[in-house]
This record gives sequence, C-alpha cells and structure tokens, in this order.
Amino acid sequence: MHSNFFWIIITMIFFFCTSYTNDKQKTNKVIKYFSNDYTKARKKFIDTSLMAGASIKSLKNPNKGPNNEALYTDIALFGSKDAKNVLVLISGTHGVEGFAGSGIQTGLLQEGITSKLTHDTSILMIHALNPYGFAHIRRFDEDNVDPNRNFIDHSESLPKNTGYEYLSDSIAPNSISFFSNIKSFFKLLWYGVKNGQTKLKFAISGGQYSDPKGLFYGGRSKTWMNQTMGYISEKYLVQAERVVVLDIHTGLGHYGEYEIILNEKEETAAYKRAKKWWGDKVKTTFSNESVSIHLPGSFKLALPRMFPNAEVTAVSLEFGTISSMRVFWALRSENWLYHHGGRNHLKAEKIKSKLLRAFYPDDPKWKFKVWIQGQKIVEQTLMHIQ
Ligand SMILES: [Zn+2]
Repeated sequence: MHSNFFWIIITMIFFFCTSYTNDKQKTNKVIKYFSNDYTKARKKFIDTSLMAGASIKSLKNPNKGPNNEALYTDIALFGSKDAKNVLVLISGTHGVEGFAGSGIQTGLLQEGITSKLTHDTSILMIHALNPYGFAHIRRFDEDNVDPNRNFIDHSESLPKNTGYEYLSDSIAPNSISFFSNIKSFFKLLWYGVKNGQTKLKFAISGGQYSDPKGLFYGGRSKTWMNQTMGYISEKYLVQAERVVVLDIHTGLGHYGEYEIILNEKEETAAYKRAKKWWGDKVKTTFSNESVSIHLPGSFKLALPRMFPNAEVTAVSLEFGTISSMRVFWALRSENWLYHHGGRNHLKAEKIKSKLLRAFYPDDPKWKFKVWIQGQKIVEQTLMHIQ
C-alpha cells in the first residue's frame, strides 16, 4: 500500500516536471520569433522568408533609422502570383506595433504555414509597412502621419475634428511638466463628462488634419506608405478574386487578448463573412462594440473601393496591452519628445521605453499568447478561403 502511494507521487512529480519543461521549451521557441529592434526583426523575416521559398521585393523608404540604417518595407509572396485567393498579412502599419506582427509572420513561416497552401491560394506578407515608425519606436510615420488616418480622398476638403482643435493643447502640449499634465488631465476629463466618452475618444484619436505636430495627424496628401500600399495592390492583388487582409496591431483591448476589427456595417457581406470565419471576436466600429472607434481614413475602408470586383475582407487583428489611458499618456509624452524635447533629452530613454512597452510588453507570456492566437486566426482564415 505504502509502496503504491510512493509510486503515484513519483509519477505525478514526473508528469508535472515534464509538462513544465515542455511548456518552457515551447515558450522559449516562440520567443525567438520576436525581436527587440527593427533591424533584427527584418533580418529574421527575410531569412525565414527565403528559406520558405518566397520571392521578396524590398521598397526603400527615403528616410533613415536611428543608427543611420536604411529602412525598407519588405514584401514576400508565397505561392503563385496568379492565385485567386490572397491572404495579406501586414505588420508595422503603426510602426512600433510591428514587433507583434513581425513575430507572428516569422513564426508562421518557421512552423511551415506555406505547406498548407493549395495551388489557388497565396500568402502575401508585408513586413514593416511603416518602417520609419518601427525603427524609431513611433506609432506614426516620417511625416508624423498616422497611416490609418491618411486613406481619405485628398482631392476633397479635409475633414474637421473640432473636438481635437479644442483639446489640442492638452492632447499634444508644448510642455509635459507636472502642472501642464494636471491641467490637461482635468480639461480632458471635463470634456468627457460634458460630451460623453465616445466623443472624447473621437476628439483624441479619430484623426485630425489641422496640426502636423499633433497626435493622430492624418496628413494633407498621400504619404509614402499610402503610395506603397497602392503599388502593392496593383502589383500583387489585381488578379485576385478574393482578398483577405489581416493587419496586425497592438495597444487596444485587454492584455494579451485579441479582437478582429472591421470598419463595415453589420448588414454587409464582409461583416457576415468575418463573423462566420472568426466568430464572436469580430467587432465592427460602426456599432460601438469595438475597442476602436470608427476611422473614416483607415486602410481597411480604402481597399474594397480599390477592388470593386473582388470579394474583400479587410480587418485589423488587434492585441491588447495596457489600459488605453496609459497608452494615450505614453503617446502624448513621446509626441512631445519628438517635436519639442529632442532625442538627447534627459527624459528621452524613459519616454521611449514607456512607449515601446505600451505596444510591446516585455513579457514572454504576452508574446506567447499573441503568437498562439495569431497562428490560430491565420490557420482558420486559410481553412475558410481555400
Ligand atoms: Zn494600430
């Protein structure tokens, strides 16, 4: 009897240790898909893409990185260029958010996603769509433009964001002193109480076209990234009958959880398709159910207009990090540093590190969760489209 008990305990300890070691090994393997700077992320992506047999095109951004390095958006095609179904996976639309997307792209390739493609389906991976923001640890591009506010009709008069204009000295102040922060906090709080949280959110992040040094600036003409996306669409997507875009983002939602965000109305075919493919995690910005507000200048809305004869499903795959209040405060400080403080300012390192961690937590568990969920969504998508 005693001897049986002894062996049961030993067996339990053995299983516990084995599963602990396996989990640790799995996490260690996954962590290697992720990188800590743009140059390493790019190298991993290119090396893995070449091993997976991609044809790669690198588009050079006219600007340089923080160490004077050249910057590129890399496009890797897996499968036939004539494929009718194309799954587009994008990282780094919002620069610093690219660490998560890059990790997922590299991981998918290392784990053999391309072997699951049928002859009629291809995967187009776009790495670092906004390489300047990725390399400089910024959410915005070289012109301080938020890429997802730039896809508007630039021949029309620019949209007005009166809420932003009223709050601009609190959203993007010239000073981040203690006094300035307190004043901004109460002004924003009062605006939210008077007008509601949705209006406050739109005033801050809905996009503004009046202040080139402000936050969430949409730009007054097509940016390099916008033109790059136009080139990619013409070169790689015109033959497609079905296009699915998963644009990977971070910074909105619960820590390590994902949401699939659409900018389409609930009655549209795209919304219904997305619900069928990905289930309850699909949310549209139209009905206020999403962690994101509705963005008229987003890339997701522009793409279906570019391909009226194809079935287009364009979504963001968004992973949560810290609270949106802390994310906003990190962006506000970094915006001040970029336009006023300068990169040699005493507070520069702390501000940059806070911004990085707001979009890319230094936590193996977060990265592991992001990877597992990202891989699942991509595999689900392939299952439905081919
Ligand atoms: Zn984003």
